[in-house]
Amino acid sequence: MNFTKPKYEEINYTGWEKKNVKVFILREDLVHPYINGNKWRKLKYNLRDFRQSGKKVILTYGGAFSNHLVAVAAASKENSFQSTGIVRGEEVRNPYINFLRECGMELHFISRTIYRKKNDAGFPEILSEELKLQGYPVNYNDYFIIPEGGSNAAAVSGTEEIMDDITGDTDYIAVACGTGATLAGISRRLKHTQKAIGISVLKAENYFETEISRLGGNMENIIINYDYHFGGYAKSSPALIDFCENFNSITGIKIEKIYTGKLFFAIDDLIKNDYFKKGERVTIIHTGGVFNF
Ligand SMILES: *Cc1c(COP(=O)(O)O)cnc(C)c1O
Repeated sequence: MNFTKPKYEEINYTGWEKKNVKVFILREDLVHPYINGNKWRKLKYNLRDFRQSGKKVILTYGGAFSNHLVAVAAASKENSFQSTGIVRGEEVRNPYINFLRECGMELHFISRTIYRKKNDAGFPEILSEELKLQGYPVNYNDYFIIPEGGSNAAAVSGTEEIMDDITGDTDYIAVACGTGATLAGISRRLKHTQKAIGISVLKAENYFETEISRLGGNMENIIINYDYHFGGYAKSSPALIDFCENFNSITGIKIEKIYTGKLFFAIDDLIKNDYFKKGERVTIIHTGGVFNF
């Protein structure tokens, strides 16, 4: 697969200069048109493990607008791997789903009720039963399973490598949190003088405090902020949408309302409210999620 090294550069936005805070961005969004951002990092060791497993098919999960499914489908196509996507909810058509199909990913839509059980011990049997009912008898043993969002131990080994590409001094590293696997990776490599800020995109008070540790991260020097979820996952507001458009037109950097929009909105708001001290350096990780389908 062809990846470009993510750029690390200083950025400026209206009102930041007068606060005397230096802001940097790591452009993980530009490494590949479809396998980008943290989904690229999370797949690296999962694909290695798949190759070594001797299994035939990668099976993974996601919603109908899943950046993770896009990355898995594109990576499978490039490597000639077989892949199956289990999609939450009723069958729909949208540019994401069309892209997954064009990449050759086999898709199965399952009800939200069944999908909710995906992390239960008996789930392989439940899914096999459901797929048989849908006319697709499968042998679950053929599958190499990657969890929703790609977030497992192998993923965290990949996300910690984000730190290798932050090539300048920084006091803070800020990232959006969906499952917490990206923040967990970053947390393993923080220097004692550095702090990481996770902006929760979910309305889930206290969720990440236990998730970061469960995923093998280190909660020391981590701050989780739950003030910018805008009502919950995929929820939004006119102010957030305006911010994304403004940010794009001023900086030329595209952000979206699910993850990076909330992250940049939060950091902008924190800067303007003097959360950071004069002279401090803040690095924002652009985790991708913007596609030209
Ligand atoms: C998946 C995703 C996230 C969330 O990352 P986690 O490691 O699950 O916390 C953040 N930003 C973008 C663009 C994503 O696609």
